[in-house]
Order: sequence, then C-alpha cells, then structure tokens
Amino acid sequence: MWQNRAGDGWILLLVSPFIGSLLGVLIRRLPQDEPVMWARSACPRCGTRLAPGDLMPVLSFLVLRGRCRQCRRQIDRFHLWIELAAVGVVLWVILAEREPTMFADCVLGWVLLALAWTDLETMLLPDALTLPLILAGFAEAWWFDPTMLPDRAIAAAIGWGAFAGLAGLWRRLHGIDALGAGDAKLLAAGGAWVGAEQLPWIVFLAALIGIAVALAQHGRKLGSRQQIAFGPWLALAIWLLRLYPDMMG
Ligand SMILES: [Zn+2]
Repeated sequence: MWQNRAGDGWILLLVSPFIGSLLGVLIRRLPQDEPVMWARSACPRCGTRLAPGDLMPVLSFLVLRGRCRQCRRQIDRFHLWIELAAVGVVLWVILAEREPTMFADCVLGWVLLALAWTDLETMLLPDALTLPLILAGFAEAWWFDPTMLPDRAIAAAIGWGAFAGLAGLWRRLHGIDALGAGDAKLLAAGGAWVGAEQLPWIVFLAALIGIAVALAQHGRKLGSRQQIAFGPWLALAIWLLRLYPDMMG
C-alpha cells in the first residue's frame, strides 16, 4: 500500500479539489447547524441547478470564468479559494517530504484548514470537527506505532485540561471568556497528533503568531478585551510542528 509513494502524492493532488469543495460545505454549514448533505448547488439568483460538469472544482470555475452558466452572476470566490487551499495542503505535505505519513498528514491539514477558516469567519470551532480530529490522532498513532498511543492520549488530556483550566480561572478573575471551549478541544487534537513533548511549543508558537497578526491588524487600538480568534493560529502551530517536529529544537 505504501510502496508507490509518488503515486500517493498524485492521487492526493487529484482528490484534493473535491475535498476542498466538501470543506467549503462544512465551513458554511456546521456553524449554522445546517445539515451537511451533498445537495446539488443552485445559483442563488436564477436558481439554475449546477450541471455535474459545473461541480468540477477549480476547473469548472475556470471554464465558466467564475460565473453562472445561465445568468452570468458571479460565483462566490470562496469556493475557488477553499478548493485551492485544499490543493495547497497536499503540495505542502509533498514539499515537506512526509512520505510515510503523507495521507494522514493531508487529512490533518484539511481538517485544520476547515477549523481555521470557520474560526476566522464565525469565532467558532465546531465539535463536529475537533472531536473526530482527536480520535483520528489516536488512530494515526495506533496505525503507525501503537507504543506512541499513551503519549498522544496524555498529550490530548493535558492540552484540554490546560486550556479549560486557564479559561475557567480567567473567567473567575476577569469575568470574561478569554479562551473558548473550542480552543481547548483543538489543543487536545494537537496533542493527539504531535505528542506531549511538542504541546508547550504549540501554545508558544500559536501565541507568537496570534500576537504578531493582531498587532499588524489593529496596532495600538488593540485593547485587552478585543475578541481575537485564537483557533487559526493554534491550527497553524499544530500543522507546523507536525510537519517540522524539530523546528523548536
Ligand atoms: Zn444564475
């Protein structure tokens, strides 16, 4: 199964636009508690059902030049960006030369991508994504080396406990929610995928990136009560430490 590694890369590249299309559905529907189905999409203006050919990710967008076949209304660019981002995840994994765990890494990257995107848009990290990601981390450890499983389980528990505890403490002291419950579950997922040793680095790296981005965006206007999504930077930190385990020494 793992013999033809270059082949795996091609297969992952080929399916990734379709995965991206599915991620788009998850990003738009999960925060609204809408059912996630493979309903045929229709144009929001003229109601034309998209033909199967129109559902080819990326390609159909280019062929139709981003417009509805009937009324020429512009198709939401979101669909193109998320599909390209899903392709980008695979390219990144290939460039990082992660052959033995290529498939698992792509799954992690795709789910992190959906989580980061959802959090940026809605300040939510849906349980429907974080909780399966924790289990997937355990499954991945078990599949490649079952002796890693205890470490991953401990890391997940510590990750959840640390953030949940911190959030509770902050709420008591300041009466505000500094960290969402979703952040604790995402950090648990991070622990489940990279292990206990890397856990502090996830938090460190995420805080560093988050502060840098917040300063760049808001500058001096940044108040301590400003709401900032932390999930995207947690997701990015998990991703970097997974692909480059030695980056923090
Ligand atoms: Zn139309």
